Amino acid sequence: MSDPLYPQVELLRAVGFAAERHRYQLRKGADRTPYINHPIAVAELLAQVGGISDLATLAAALLHDTVEDTKTEPDEIEDAFGVEVCDLVVEVTDDKRLPKAERKRLQIVHGPHLSERARAIKIADKTCNVRDITHTPPSDWSMERKIEYLDWAEKVVSACRGVNQPLERYFDEVLRRGRDELENPAAPATGVGAMVVPVS
Ligand code: NDP
Ligand code: ZN
Repeated sequence: MSDPLYPQVELLRAVGFAAERHRYQLRKGADRTPYINHPIAVAELLAQVGGISDLATLAAALLHDTVEDTKTEPDEIEDAFGVEVCDLVVEVTDDKRLPKAERKRLQIVHGPHLSERARAIKIADKTCNVRDITHTPPSDWSMERKIEYLDWAEKVVSACRGVNQPLERYFDEVLRRGRDELENPAAPATGVGAMVVPVS
């Protein structure tokens, strides 16, 4: 990162960069929130639940979907935020030349070989996605597809475990409540919902 004296500035630059790159995208969920809300939520979860203050991890979390989901090249991330952040973003980016099913399989295979910081980002990303699929799912997703996603996310997180206990426990709780709510839609659980609430 270019100026370690001003970490807040670097994070604001990362939010600005990601917001600009994702500017025409909305989340797939029925509430159609701006896409940038998702990387912000991932970074917030790492900080609030995971207790992570490492600047490169938080900046990479803010940027984690830019290469995969926008026209951004890794070189641009490196130029703007340095090689450390760029490497983390690349680590959590799928190879877009591969078919979707293969990309999903490789996320499980590659999990144990990622750096600890990349594994923490992956866990936070999957936590946010499970939460979104539970509370604001894409409107055209069947129950079977939602359950399939939760099962897959569980496998990816299992492959990434051993880096941050609070984050991993929080994922387990979000997943458990997600499954409960999908199975019993009339009686949604309270607590770990759309908000970031640490579980003890
Ligand atoms: P994905 O399963 O890849 O879609 C989920 C991804 O979309 C998330 O990982 C997340 O990406 C992003 N996303 C955007 N908005 C939301 C939101 N509101 N909630 C959660 N995630 C969101 O779907 P694809 O359409 O790309 O399909 C790929 C795979 O889905 C296929 O290979 C197949 O396995 C499966 N599939 C299953 C079907 C079924 O009926 N069972 C039907 C069709 C496909 P990010 O991590 O970048 O944030
Ligand atoms: Zn994501």
